[in-house]
Amino acid sequence: MLATYDLDREQLSALLAGHPRYRVDQVWRGLWERGERPSDMTDLPKALRSQLEASLLPALHPVSRSSSKDRQTIKWLWSLHDGARVESVLMHYRERSTVCISSQAGCAMGCRFCATGQLGFTRHLSSGEIVEQVVQARRAALPRRLGNIVFMGMGEPLANYDRVWGAVRLLHSELGISARHITISTVGVVPGIRRLAREDLPVNLAVSLHAARDSLRSQLVPLNRRYPLSVLAGACREYLAAKNRRLSFEWALIDGVNDTVRDATELAELVLPLGAHVNLIPLNPTPGYLARGAPPSAVAAFRDELTARGVNATIRANRGTDIDAACGQLAARDRSQ
Ligand code: SAH
Ligand code: SF4
Repeated sequence: MLATYDLDREQLSALLAGHPRYRVDQVWRGLWERGERPSDMTDLPKALRSQLEASLLPALHPVSRSSSKDRQTIKWLWSLHDGARVESVLMHYRERSTVCISSQAGCAMGCRFCATGQLGFTRHLSSGEIVEQVVQARRAALPRRLGNIVFMGMGEPLANYDRVWGAVRLLHSELGISARHITISTVGVVPGIRRLAREDLPVNLAVSLHAARDSLRSQLVPLNRRYPLSVLAGACREYLAAKNRRLSFEWALIDGVNDTVRDATELAELVLPLGAHVNLIPLNPTPGYLARGAPPSAVAAFRDELTARGVNATIRANRGTDIDAACGQLAARDRSQ
């Protein structure tokens, strides 16, 4: 049985065989424009509501929903039909909200400092499972507008390319979220970056770099052994040549590991020819990695080193650390058990 948002219009029509044609549009709008469950669709006859409720299964079953102390960050832990678990995080800003969604349950990339990586891989999410995270977040964000979608939750989106791209298409065509407001974050899956460069929708690309010399990056990010920095930079150049989108690099500052002047110099050399933007974030603590995040003074000093070399760099605010909702902390453990 398909999850609700994995169904296309034809499959919905088949499900509604014997009903007037206009029901297809009605149900489709209820699902996509209003994010309703069939049982909430009061414009449908009651019998049809229950029939649809039984056949259009929700993909996400809430296990828990936590809110940060300042109430500006909300994290959901979802259970999927087979018991696999993922998290999504909604962040409110003044006028709009951003949702950080998962593309896989777990992750096979094994970055040592990342809670999801420490879990290992469970499975890919379907397009519908990805989209439903956005539908839920959009409802929860009201009256704020859900402005941005970032694939920075659990999993490596470019290792699940087809389903992730299917989800991007649906977000664009059915939810009206422009590709310019969607960011795909990758640890550096080079064939995926090259494919993205050939797609028609111009999404934003964020590359999680963390080190700008191969010896260090291979320790932090095992995938670097397969796609070393020179190859990764080549793929980034291709992306820039094909798309007129801003490229950004993510850099989690680890105390005494990648926060030195040497690191800043190497990063500047890599970034300047690409005209890319650098987002700095102190490493968030995770159970399986003992190093600490760089202290605020070191983060500011690193930013200043970059700025002095002409690099555009921003320190990213850390959101939701008190509910383990910050970057790299998503592990989908049910803490109540
Ligand atoms: N797999 C993709 C997207 C999910 S990870 C990727 O790696 O880009 C989202 C972001 O969180 C990435 O930039 C990742 O490097 C970062 N991250 C992982 N663990 C972290 C940690 N402990 N502290 C800070 N950022 C972390
Ligand atoms: Fe996977 Fe990204 Fe975590 Fe690396 S940082 S293990 S690629 S989720």
